[in-house]
Order: sequence, then structure tokens, then C-alpha cells
Amino acid sequence: MPASALIACPECDRLHREVAPPRGATAHCLRCGAVLRRGGHDSRDMALALYLAALVFFALANMFPLLSLRLHGAVKEASLPGCASLLAELGWPWLAAILITTVILAPTMHLLGMAWVLFQVRRGRQNRWTARLFRLVEQFQTWGMAEVFVLGIIVSYVKLAKMAVILPGPSLYALGAFVLTAAAALSAVDPAAVWHDLGAGHDLPDLPAGARTARAADLVTCLSCHRLSARGKHRRCPRCGATLRTRKPESRQRTWALLATAVILYVPANLLPVMRVVSLGKVQADTIMGGILYFARTGSWHLALIIFTASVVVPVLKISILAFLLLAEHRGSTWNPLQRARLYRLTEMVGRWSMVDIFVVTLMVAMVELGNLASIAPGPGAVAFALMVVATMLAALTFDPRLLWDRLEPAHG
Ligand SMILES: [Zn+2]
Ligand SMILES: [Zn+2]
Repeated sequence: MPASALIACPECDRLHREVAPPRGATAHCLRCGAVLRRGGHDSRDMALALYLAALVFFALANMFPLLSLRLHGAVKEASLPGCASLLAELGWPWLAAILITTVILAPTMHLLGMAWVLFQVRRGRQNRWTARLFRLVEQFQTWGMAEVFVLGIIVSYVKLAKMAVILPGPSLYALGAFVLTAAAALSAVDPAAVWHDLGAGHDLPDLPAGARTARAADLVTCLSCHRLSARGKHRRCPRCGATLRTRKPESRQRTWALLATAVILYVPANLLPVMRVVSLGKVQADTIMGGILYFARTGSWHLALIIFTASVVVPVLKISILAFLLLAEHRGSTWNPLQRARLYRLTEMVGRWSMVDIFVVTLMVAMVELGNLASIAPGPGAVAFALMVVATMLAALTFDPRLLWDRLEPAHG
């Protein structure tokens, strides 16, 4: 079989013949079940229109207040950029940077980049820079957390409504519309089809007989655009410019180091207050668990459960799963690799939602800035917590799921 018709599974390295599945169907890896292609629904013009609409909604979401608060005659409004600049003013540049990166910068770059790439491909004007941009655009998507921020607004809304009159601002609707249109736009594009149009497909010789994985066939797959190259022929992917490596470098060591960082940060993140509420001269410090208990005591069981899952269960689960996968790999375990691959996918999927409590803190700080009447400041626990979430997300990214399958290959090494 000519290698040009092949694709290597990015999660287990198994070679497959590439097929474009029919509309609405998905092509999965036969061995590990990873999604190889979402087929048939490549409606680029629709996607381009949706991305442009999402850009307009996102601009509106940044221009007006998200919420407004009325308490004893005082009115306070908070916009998204307003939250970020207030955090920086109050001396919490770390939290401001996290908010700006995940809720403003990453979504903006993703939207602009996607719209530009689709526009260039539509005009047939794509070149190697378009491919490099498409690679970056896909990375911005990982760090964009507007949908988590929306959940944070809902939680803050309920929390603030217990002490003041809260009204939704125009930007709240715009942000909701943005999240929905951006999700619709994303599902209207098949990235593999766009990569094909960006050119520089495989140029490989025939495969050695019986080679089941890219590594056994002396090939290396690009983790960004999935192009296969002969091992050692290129240092960077000829299509998208990503560095080509058979496996992620020092995956075990880096993942262990990031997990250890996350565990160390987990302690202050839970023991130190995430915010300090000053109301009529009284100071009250709230930890993550304190916030959860507050919701439970005041009858908001659903919110207590959401925050408990996102802030306590998810980080612990994520750290334990990654540590378990590393230990199992270290001991040469061949136990049910399919289950282990599913566990890994779970950690990748849920990690971002842990950020919700940080967004609640940023919103509460911005909303309750009422001078002597009441004010809220972030606590050191919030910085530790945010950094812990980032460390677990990086740990999931540096872990190479192909390690789970390498032990099953006859000539691994
Ligand atoms: Zn696979
Ligand atoms: Zn590539």
C-alpha cells in the first residue's frame, strides 16, 4: 500500500488507511478509539459566516457591562476588560493575566485566525504561512475558556443575588451568543479537510510489510496537522512547521514535574483564602471549601455540587489519573490499554472546567467594589489555585498517550 493514503493515530501511533467518513459520521482509531476524522460536514462558507458572527458577538461582549449590581442606592457595573484592569489595579496582575489570556486573548486570536485561514483557503490563496497560522489557531483553542467564564458568571449571579439586586447587562447576552456561534462554527469545519487543502501532503515510499505503527514503519507523524514524514528526513513538518518528534520529548519526566508542582500548589490553593469580603468593617475570608459550604447552607445545592466537582473532584481526579498512567507505564503494565486511553481523554476534556471558581472570584471582586459599604479582594489561595489548574493542563499536554501502547509493540525501544 502506498504510504500516501495513510494516517497515524495521534494517540496510539497505529497506522490506518485514511477515509473521509460520510456526513455526520466519525472515523475512530480501530485500536484506541481516538477520533481520527469528523467527516462529511465540512461546510466552510457556513463556518466562515459563523466565525464572523462570533467575532461581532465577542466584540459586543467586551464593550458593555456583563452584570450590574444595585445595593443601598449604589450602582456598580462590571465589564470583561473592566474586571481584568481592576484586578491589575488591586495588585493581582497574575489573576488579571490569566483572565486576559483565557477569556479575551485566546478566543480573539482563535476567531481571527480561523476566519483568515478559511478566507484564504476559499480564495485559493493559501501558502505555508497560512498553514503555520492554522497550527497556532488550533493551539489557541486549547486555552480559550469563554464557556467556563459563562458558568462563572452564572455562579456569581446566584451568589450576588443573595445580597443585592443583580441585573444582566447587554454583554452577558452577547457572550452567550458568542459561545454558541463559536461552537457551531467549530463543528462546521473538518480540520483534516482544511489541512489537505493547505497542501504538502505525504510524499512517502511504500511501507515495509507488516508495520503496524508509524514508528515501526520508520515514519513520524506531525501532532498538529497529522502529516506523515519519513523519520529523520525533516526536522520540522513541511506542511505546518511543527517540530517533528517520534514521541513527545521527556514526556514522563515533564509530566511528573508538572504533577508534583500541581500537588504542591494544591495545599495553599485549598488552605488559603481565595477571597476576602469586607462588609461594613467586618472582614471574612473564604476558602474554596468555605464557598462550597456557603452554597450548601443557603440552599443552592446545585451550585455547591458544580463548584465541588469543578474545584475539588476534577483536579484530584486529573492528578491521580495522570500519576496512575505514568506509574502503570513505568512498571510495564499491559493492563487494559483501552481503558487507560479513555482515562487520559477524560483528563484532557474536563481540566479546563476547574477554572470556574477563579472566574467567580474575578467577577465578585469587580462587582463588589462599593467603597466603605462592601468590597471583595482576591486571596493568595486564588493565585495558587489558578496556577495549579494551569499545571494540570500542561501535565495533560506533555503526557504522550502513545506511551500507553508502545509496550504492546513487538520491538519497542
Ligand atoms: Zn489510536
Ligand atoms: Zn504538521
